[in-house]
This record gives sequence, C-alpha cells and structure tokens, in this order.
Amino acid sequence: MWKIKKGLLETLLESSQRYYPDEFMCFLGGKRKEKLLDEIVMLPTINGKNFASFQQNLVPIDDSIIGTFHSHPTGPANPSSADKKLFQKYEVNFILSLSGQVFRAFDRNGKELLVELIE
Ligand SMILES: [Zn+2]
Repeated sequence: MWKIKKGLLETLLESSQRYYPDEFMCFLGGKRKEKLLDEIVMLPTINGKNFASFQQNLVPIDDSIIGTFHSHPTGPANPSSADKKLFQKYEVNFILSLSGQVFRAFDRNGKELLVELIE
C-alpha cells in the first residue's frame, strides 16, 4: 500500500483552498521502493474553474514523478474522463473534493486505491 505524509496532505489542502475557486494541480514525488509519497513537485500549470492542465513538455521524463494531485473546487472527488486519461501515466492519483474535504486516490486504471497516512 502507498503511504503519504500527513503534512503533505495538509499542504495540498491549503494550496487547494488558496486556489479556490480554481482547480489546483501538482505532481507528487517520493521513494518508489518504499512506496512513500513525501514531496510536492510543482510544474507550471494553467488553472481554471473546471480544469487544470500543464505543459506536457515540462514534465521531467525521469521517474521522479510518482503521482498527481488535483482539487475539485466543487463537486465530489470523482475522476472525469480527462482525469482518467492523465491517471494512466502515473501510479497514484489524488483528487480532493474541497466541498466535502474528501481525498480519494486512484491507480492507473481509475480504480480507487487505499493509501496509508503516516506522520
Ligand atoms: Zn478532476
């Protein structure tokens, strides 16, 4: 099971609130062998009310990026079809529903993942 630092989730929540009513998006890095996510990787993104996108050519090609994160400012933390397309490229993908303050994680196939919170 993947693990994520509690402090990291708090930072993601704060950032998402700061971007509200726009979507906030970033990438997640960490230690693949330990299945640990402990780093936020910021890339230039374009943020809007119903989308956040990034320039694909700015994403490093090495394997330092393990996952993605983005907020849904309104509505539930369900992946859209565009989300599912993005998820295919990364192992762990988080969506935060700001209205419900619910984090959900998905694998490459859009299947929900259980992620362990660690201190
Ligand atoms: Zn989405």
